[in-house]
Order: sequence, then structure tokens, then C-alpha cells
Amino acid sequence: MEAPITPWNGAPVALATRHGKEREIAPPLLGVGLVTHVVALDTDRFGTFTGEVPRQGSARETVLAKARAGLVAAGFSRGVASEGTLGPYPDLPVLTYDHELVGFVDVELGLVVVEEAMSFETVVASIRSRVGDDLGRFLRHIDFPAQGLIVRRGDGDLGELVKGIVTLEQLNDALARISGISTDGEVVIETDQRAHLCPTRRTVIREAAVRLAQRLARRCPSCSCPGFGLLEHEPGLPCQACGAETSLDRAVVEGCSRCGERVRTPITSLADPMQCAFCNP
Ligand SMILES: [Zn+2]
Ligand SMILES: [Zn+2]
Repeated sequence: MEAPITPWNGAPVALATRHGKEREIAPPLLGVGLVTHVVALDTDRFGTFTGEVPRQGSARETVLAKARAGLVAAGFSRGVASEGTLGPYPDLPVLTYDHELVGFVDVELGLVVVEEAMSFETVVASIRSRVGDDLGRFLRHIDFPAQGLIVRRGDGDLGELVKGIVTLEQLNDALARISGISTDGEVVIETDQRAHLCPTRRTVIREAAVRLAQRLARRCPSCSCPGFGLLEHEPGLPCQACGAETSLDRAVVEGCSRCGERVRTPITSLADPMQCAFCNP
């Protein structure tokens, strides 16, 4: 008899979120036999998108710390969590880069898997404003109220801000109140990037969750643990014209987080000279 694709068969997994991420993460996990239970853990202590609490470790450490905190709080053997990084793209800072990780821990199997997705489509915008300004164009541009807003003081004081604004009434109230206490009488209105208020981020989280589920459906050829998948890229594919090493992959390395099995698959094609620093400087 062939082993089932995954060993879970309806097993519970804890998802630590207060931002509705189950809508993106639960459906793909159900496809590999994992039933998501939301744990309303305050994940803000791991760092906040609005910047009041800076993130302590790397994104990967943080997503796994959240997954572990969730499974401990729920008393389960399995936890899942997501962690996003949003900011200017290092190579081209006019672009906003959204990098979403979804991490999974199964303490019974000794399994730790992180998958990722990225996008340049995530909406990030801000505008300075005062009471009476016409905000129609800005609000249409960011797709309010599907995309939520934050109102901060215009004088840069971070002490008072209103988050999670999703109605015009909330926006007008916040505008009136925050501009009233700001020394310059202005506010900064900006997109609230927390997942439940940011549809464009949610699309990327869903993509990462789908990749996680696909990976959990693959078993290690050596120990048959689920979660076999990409460990690293190995750049240096030779140029077709001159043979120099390019930045393209010449191999990918896949592996197992439990037994340490590694499988290196070389890329057999050669690089287009367009990608070569010597042929196409
Ligand atoms: Zn293995
Ligand atoms: Zn070349």
C-alpha cells in the first residue's frame, strides 16, 4: 500500500494571528490534511508593521518564533505563522518590495519549513492633509476602504495615531482629532499594512501558503518526512557564448529539515549571453 501524501489526516495546526490570516493560510493547509485553528495571540510583541515595536530577529526567526508560540498556546504539536517585510527594494528603491514568509513547525516530526513569496504590487502610499482637503483621488488610488488607513500627527510626534481606519466616518473623526493636537495642524494619512487591512499583501501571503502546502506534500526520499524542498540556489550558470559564470542558477539544492538529506540538481542548459556581464555589460 502506498503511503498517504501527508501523515496529518485532519490533525490540528495552530495559527497565531489577530489579523485574519486564516483566510489565506487555512485553505491550502487543509489540502494537505491540516486543520487550522486560530490562536488569538498578541503577535505584536514580535514586532509591528506600524513600527511601534521593532522586530527582534530576522524575518525567518520571527515567523518560526510565532509558529512555536502558537502551538504552545494551543497545546498542539503543530504551528503555522506568517511574517512580512515591506519596504523599498534595495536595488531600485522607488519600488516597494513585499516579502512574505509562512513558517510551519511540527514538533512531533521534528519538522521546520519556511516558504516565501514576493511582490512589487503591494499598495503603500501616504499623503499630508488637513481638515477640508479633498481626499477623493487618494482614496480611490489606494482602494479605500478595502485597504485600511492610519492617521498620524503631521508634526512627526508618534505618540498619538489612529490605526485600522475602514470607514469615511472613522477617517473624518481621526483627521479632526489628530490635526487638532498636531502642532502644525496637519496629519499624515497612510496605508495600514497589517494583513487584514491590506488586500494586496494578503494575495502574497496566500501565495506563500500555497507554496508551503505544496512543499508539505513532498516527502523526503531518504526518511519520508514531509516538507522536502528548496534549500538554496547555486549561482554561476556558464554563458553560452563565452563560458563566464553568470548570476543565474547552475544548480538548485533541495533538502530535508529533519534528516539532513540534500539533493543537488544541476541545470543542464547554458545562460543567454544577454545575462552575461562580459557579453552584455
Ligand atoms: Zn529526510
Ligand atoms: Zn558571455
